Amino acid sequence: MRIAVIGAGFSGMSFCININSFGKLYDIDLYEASNDVGLKILKTGNGRCNLSNEDISDKNYNKEFVEYIDKFGYIKNYYSDECIKFLDKINIKTRVDKGRIYPYSNKAESVKKAYEYALKKYRINVILNAYIDKIDIIGSKYKIYSVMYDYVIIATGGIIGSLYNGYELVKNLSVDISNLTPALVGIKIEEKIASLDGVRMIGEVTCGSFNEIGEIQFKKDGLSGIVIMNLSRYYNKGIISINFGVNVDKSYFNTNMEEKVMSMYPFKLASYILKSNNVVESIYSMKFTIKSFYGFDQAQITKGGVRLDQLCEGFELFTYKNIYTIGELIDVDGECGGYNIHNAICSGLISSRNVLNKIVK
Ligand SMILES: Cc1cc2nc3c(=O)[nH]c(=O)nc-3n(C[C@H](O)[C@H](O)[C@H](O)COP(=O)(O)OP(=O)(O)OC[C@H]3O[C@@H](n4cnc5c(N)ncnc54)[C@H](O)[C@@H]3O)c2cc1C
Repeated sequence: MRIAVIGAGFSGMSFCININSFGKLYDIDLYEASNDVGLKILKTGNGRCNLSNEDISDKNYNKEFVEYIDKFGYIKNYYSDECIKFLDKINIKTRVDKGRIYPYSNKAESVKKAYEYALKKYRINVILNAYIDKIDIIGSKYKIYSVMYDYVIIATGGIIGSLYNGYELVKNLSVDISNLTPALVGIKIEEKIASLDGVRMIGEVTCGSFNEIGEIQFKKDGLSGIVIMNLSRYYNKGIISINFGVNVDKSYFNTNMEEKVMSMYPFKLASYILKSNNVVESIYSMKFTIKSFYGFDQAQITKGGVRLDQLCEGFELFTYKNIYTIGELIDVDGECGGYNIHNAICSGLISSRNVLNKIVK
């Protein structure tokens, strides 16, 4: 019994470690195109690595993905503490900050270290500098380089955060991939706002049915911050309206308006507001027209991926028995807040259990 896992990110490493953590050690080759495992971990959560979230439900993921995990009964795995229990098993203690789950050290490097120890402990054969773009199908087995495998797990992530990806690899297996776009990304706008560059201010952002309160970060030609990144999962055109007067009654500005605006907002934003024709409207409903997204280089995740109707139980391909696609490679996109790493880990755990069940049958 030999297993190949392609991609040493959260999903691929979680698969390897989990399947070998129940007593029997299987022969697993973990192929990684870079010169080290888990390099992307270091970039996550501004170096803190937001691993998961205390509050996880349908609303945090795209509809197609929720339908998939519901169809195969994985809601209970995703919306429980299974991910945290796995992290605990590999000595990643966690702490919670406003619902977001981080490593106890608040440092992404500790997470990478813990995964490295676990790969060693569970005897995973790591093969670095191994970019895989082809799997040969030989009867019911799969050949990578010259090695034959019974199972192949493709865990190559999205376009972002690594020099490599696995889209060609899965396309060569005739797997359909939905449109790939950057998500959790800042939004460029039509209006001229260079004077606001660098301003950060809490506001209530509305666009179509999207509504969320959070910190908006102004750039010279667009908007960013977690709330804007979350918005980028839903809309790529339309008008964004921002309420900078949450919990402040409009009547407050009836008197001494200039003094109050200048005292309440960062100087650049106050000046921008006071220059507008209707100051109160500018405070309670500042409008911006979406022009485009910033590019993949500034995004956190890739929206789209292996279409979920190509997958049967356990993230296995319908077309090729015993080949699985997991993590960000599939058509899943979660909100900011730990939901994407949570998915990568959970899909690794679920697919490893699926493979294990088949092996022991
Ligand atoms: C700057 C940044 C910050 C982020 N912060 C957070 C956060 O705090 N919380 C959160 O939930 N999400 C965060 N994300 C998203 C999160 O990191 C990803 O969703 C998650 O890492 C996906 O895990 P994965 O295992 O699917 O893929 P990855 O972690 O991308 O791992 C895939 C691995 O496969 C390798 N690979 C690719 N192609 C090949 C190939 N053909 N052959 C061999 N190897 C290959 C890659 O080199 C890589 O090591 C962030 C993303 C970025 C870019």
